[in-house]
Amino acid sequence: MLDKTSITAFGHLINGEIVDRADKGGIDVLDPSTGAVFARLPRGGQAEVDRAVEAARAAYEGPWGAMTATERGRVLMRLSALILDNFEDLAKLESLDTGKPMKQARADITATARYFEYYGSAADKHHGETIPYSKGMTVMALRVPHGVTGHIIPWNYPSQIFGRSVGGALAAGNACVVKPAEDACLTPLKISELALEAGLPAGALNIVCGLGMEAGAALAAHVGINHISFTGSPQTGTAVAKAAAENQIPVTLELGGKSPQILFEDADLDEALPVVVNAIVQNAGQTCAAGSRVLIQRSIYDKVMAELTRRFSALKTGPGADDLDCGPIISAKQLQRVTMLVEAALADGAKVVARATLADGAPKDGFYYPPMLVDGASPQSTIAQDEVFGPVLAAFPFEDEAEAIRLANATPYGLTASVWTRDGGRQMRCAHAIESGQVFINNYGAGGGIELPFGGMKRSGYGREKAFEGMVSFTTIKTVVMKHG
Ligand code: NAD
Repeated sequence: MLDKTSITAFGHLINGEIVDRADKGGIDVLDPSTGAVFARLPRGGQAEVDRAVEAARAAYEGPWGAMTATERGRVLMRLSALILDNFEDLAKLESLDTGKPMKQARADITATARYFEYYGSAADKHHGETIPYSKGMTVMALRVPHGVTGHIIPWNYPSQIFGRSVGGALAAGNACVVKPAEDACLTPLKISELALEAGLPAGALNIVCGLGMEAGAALAAHVGINHISFTGSPQTGTAVAKAAAENQIPVTLELGGKSPQILFEDADLDEALPVVVNAIVQNAGQTCAAGSRVLIQRSIYDKVMAELTRRFSALKTGPGADDLDCGPIISAKQLQRVTMLVEAALADGAKVVARATLADGAPKDGFYYPPMLVDGASPQSTIAQDEVFGPVLAAFPFEDEAEAIRLANATPYGLTASVWTRDGGRQMRCAHAIESGQVFINNYGAGGGIELPFGGMKRSGYGREKAFEGMVSFTTIKTVVMKHG
């Protein structure tokens, strides 16, 4: 798909045209596995966002808005099929752009195709209600799209988060303007070209590349959008929500987590431990729903730590294309952030009990951080409270169920959690008591589950994406009251 011997110039997608290809200037795109520049993006700002919003409005009021729900669904289903037709190329591009191992990139493209299949097949099954109000009157609560929706996408799962966000929005009948992350956004650009091939009218889906402070801020504050969906850091989410508040538009915020994985002494450890490790190593820990804390009942603490040590030590980190257990971190800036957070924890008394290895021959300029198991951090420390967004698992002991729940809830976040126990009563008590948008019992789906409503409690954000619920978020209700006697 890309000629690796030269730097590929990408453009925005506005009104069905690829424009402003960044031959010179613009934003360099680095391969995290090598640190080398391999592509360039244009640096859009207010003017490009204006053009994209105008194109989206015209499509919404024109050909896209005129399509029936069934026709919209068929376009999205065709897009899903085209993604699968281009599967291996897209997976390679995702792996190159983000550094993720090929098996993860393939899983991401599979999920992206599934989002468009799911929302395509849901498009004509989503309808409003009638309300028994008064004799001689019929009241309808119509489910209608917002109009033009804005989508600010992060770099950790560019294709999947693009799929879940615009999939639901387009199925509901909105026209979209996307600002993908400057660090990784090539698969959304390629997939949006496939969307045109699938029959999506020009302007129904627009992508403006650029920096967060420029293109992102311009989109969040734009008077021409009717809803904005944001996934990323709490700080940026706050800025986006403030900008949206100026225009009184609804917002969906997905802001990450500090998700606990709780191991009780009666857990099936053979089943649990591979999942516990994967939940933090997947995508080099750069997953909003990463299981970044493991809470272990004291009676099995030493045994579990010994087994986790063995498993972490056996992991290998290296280039995405080599398809090892863990790829690089997305950028030098994020690598530095992870390193600093861990150093602060170690200075505070935490200890590294196990570390994965870097594969022989891993390029020295790649952004590698082999997975790490940390013990002895205080539950109040930053590493226990805040997203590290790297492959760092912090372990904490607990005595009993009450303490497990207290520790699980003792962070500002509430996105996902897992509980490993054979005790049915405890499973349900924990599910109810843990303040989290998702609770997994005897399994864990870090970021997975197209069919599962996903979103946060507390500072993990609000609103839901994924599942049917994700499509509902992209609609509003119009009440029609008809007096007919
Ligand atoms: P970020 O929140 O700054 O960036 C996410 C998206 O927001 C990108 O598309 C970016 O261009 C855009 N953006 C940035 N500033 C903006 C602004 N002022 N207005 C509108 N859009 C803006 O995240 P980051 O700096 O790339 O990463 C920092 C930390 O955020 C990470 O270490 C991690 O903890 C967290 N993060 C979380 C997720 C998640 O999935 N929840 C994803 C990425 C990053």
